[in-house]
Formats: sequence, structure tokens, C-alpha cells
Amino acid sequence: MKSILKLFGTALLCMLGSFTGSVAESSQITVFRNVRLFDGEQLIESANVVVRGTRIDRVSDVGKPLDIPDGAELIIGDGLTLVPGLIDAHTHSFSRGNLERALDFGVTTSIDMWTPVDFMQQMQAEREQGIAFGRADMHSAGIGVTAPKSHGTQFGPVPTLSRPEDADAFVAARINEGSKYIKIIYDNFKMFDRPIPTLDYPTMEAVVESAHRRDRLVVVHSRDVDAYADVVRAGANGIAHIMVDEVPGRELIDGMRRQGMFVIPTLSISTPSGADMANDGVLGPRLSEKESANLRGYAPKHRQGGDKIAMESVRVLNEAGVTILAGSDSPNRGTATGVSIHQELGILVQAGLTPIQALVSATSAPADVFGLGDRGRIKAGLRADLLLVKGDPSSKISDTRRIIGVWKAGQRHALDQ
Ligand SMILES: [Zn+2]
Repeated sequence: MKSILKLFGTALLCMLGSFTGSVAESSQITVFRNVRLFDGEQLIESANVVVRGTRIDRVSDVGKPLDIPDGAELIIGDGLTLVPGLIDAHTHSFSRGNLERALDFGVTTSIDMWTPVDFMQQMQAEREQGIAFGRADMHSAGIGVTAPKSHGTQFGPVPTLSRPEDADAFVAARINEGSKYIKIIYDNFKMFDRPIPTLDYPTMEAVVESAHRRDRLVVVHSRDVDAYADVVRAGANGIAHIMVDEVPGRELIDGMRRQGMFVIPTLSISTPSGADMANDGVLGPRLSEKESANLRGYAPKHRQGGDKIAMESVRVLNEAGVTILAGSDSPNRGTATGVSIHQELGILVQAGLTPIQALVSATSAPADVFGLGDRGRIKAGLRADLLLVKGDPSSKISDTRRIIGVWKAGQRHALDQ
């Protein structure tokens, strides 16, 4: 009876779009033979990787005998590199279409930083029924915490917060709705010459304390050094966006490192880099006109010099050992869903990360930060979220764009062109 219900549920969801179900019992086996491997932490020049059902069955040395079971799909890895499915640590996934498009470019998990509650709940309900094939998984903050007339309120009527004494009830309401972590807006837009209200410090701090009491991670949207300093003082876990007014000084950097904080710089929206994606020889032809136009028609609105400050800030934070996570902020202007994780990786390398550090920032590091222990690495037992590319992105980061195949939980995704 149970399996009939499961089948029926699967058929229903198939009709809606992405396929949700489980192939855990299936004997589907894929063997990657003699492939260069970035396992989420380091590069292994040559390895064999066997996927069985939804999981990575084993990773073995090429010197060891490899028996290939009947019916397995064999992929010869010469000249190719296998990396974990990419995790975009800052997206706004407003529709199933966004999540399907993300998978086309190798993003198997989207960490969402503000989306309507009903959509978040729908995606979470599907995940509870099994693995959602054909689209990226979404983990979401739901709606963020913001003040009246502040950033975020333009996305439609949303509850707002004004006083520290209301913070706990506000956070509880988000968690009840299904928010996996708490996103706070703490940005008065002073760097954009159009100041708007934002939470005051005591209220922001009260939100952080409440979320931590409730075992939730806190990510704060901030873009200037003063706001960054406040966020560090309040004890939040991480910051979304990078400062564009001033490169952080020693005290601020040390505070962030001491507290084990992470930063999701979203350099894709702090630099006019979208056109490079639209013009890219590999990605460009795969884009729709709308995606190209969105990538091209954008220049950051911060004061002059902000782009360089953003890049330099990432350089010094990375050098100091602050955890950097790759996040695209797509589909905001200047970006495109899925595509812009490759944009972000490229700029992170320009800002001083090594290609390996950049790959870590989109695989094992976000998995660790957001508690996604079943992914972000290529290791036996983990979920087979995989991206196969031509070349070697551990020495030339733009090779992540040369996509040969994408697997979500062991199932190969048919790439849209
Ligand atoms: Zn955002």
C-alpha cells in the first residue's frame, strides 16, 4: 500500500515538473574511470568513482582493479575533471524554473536568501517525500528580518520588525514557517547615496541572540565597514555581500576570524562582470536572450571605486583565513541563475583565491557552514551530486564552464541548451 501511494505521489509530481522520488533501490550504476578528481577539498590526479543508486559507492585508486558490473554506464575520464555538484550560497529562487535552470549549469544545491514562504514550503514538502530530481535542492531563509520601509519590503508585503522586545516572536514565526536559518537586513544604503531605514543595532543584536537560542544560523546582509563591525559585535555567523566603502582593517578582520565567521561576498553584483558571462564562448551560446540581457545591462550603483574595494576586501579576508563562500545573488540584475556561480568563481580567483580555494568555496565549505553533511564532497556514502567538466578547474577556474554532465543524486540531468 505504502509503495502504491508513493508511486501515485511520484506520478503527480512528475506532471507538475521535476521528478521527486527515490532511486535508492535502483541498481543504476555509473562508473567514472581514470578521471581527475576534486573531492571537495583537494585534487587527486586520477581516480575511479563508482555511483550506485543515489550515492557514491566508492572512490578508488586507478592502480586497483575495477570490476565494472553489467549494465553500468562507463564514463572514461581522460581529460575530464569530476567535482562535487556546486552549492550556490546566495540565491533567490522564486520558482521551480529557477531551480531547474540552476541544475543545467551544475548547481545541485541553492542556498536561498529570501523567497516567498509558500514557495519555500512547497519545495521543502517535496524534499521530505524523497529526492527532487531535475532541479537543484533549495535550502531557504524564507523571508528575512527587516525594518519598516527597509530593503526587502519592496518584494511585497512582508512582516517587519522595529523593536528588540519583538525580536524573539519574529524569529519564532520564521522558524515556524520553515526558515532553515535567519537572514537579517542591516544596511542603510549609505554607500548608494540613497539612504533608507534599517534595523537599529539593539534590534539586530536581539534577533541574533534569539536565533542562536533556537539553534539557527544567522546571515546578515551588510555592505559597509561600520555595518560589518556591528554584525561582528552582535555575534552573527556570517555576512552576505562585501563592503564597498573601505577595505577592512586588522581589528575587524581579527574579530571575524576569531569568531569563525564566513562571508558570501557576491562579487557578481559588486562588479560589472555579467557581460563576460554573456560573451563567454562556452556559456554564452547556452543563454536565453533574457538571461543575456540581464547579465549585460548592469553596473553596480555604489560610489566610484567600490568594485576595487570589494575585490581587495575579499583578498584580505581570504588571506587572513576568513571562510569565503561562493554565492551569486542570482537572478538579480547582472546575473543569471546557475550561470553566475561560474561568474562568481572566476571573480573570486581574480580577487586572490586560488582555483582550489574557489572550488572549496562552492562545495565543501558551504556544506559545512549550512550543515549539509550528505553533499559537497566526493566520498563513499555521500549523495552523488556531481559535475563533470573538460579540462582542469583546479588550475584554470573557467574550466568549470565546460560542462560535460551533471548528476543529481546519481541521476544524469539532460542539459538544456
Ligand atoms: Zn540577495
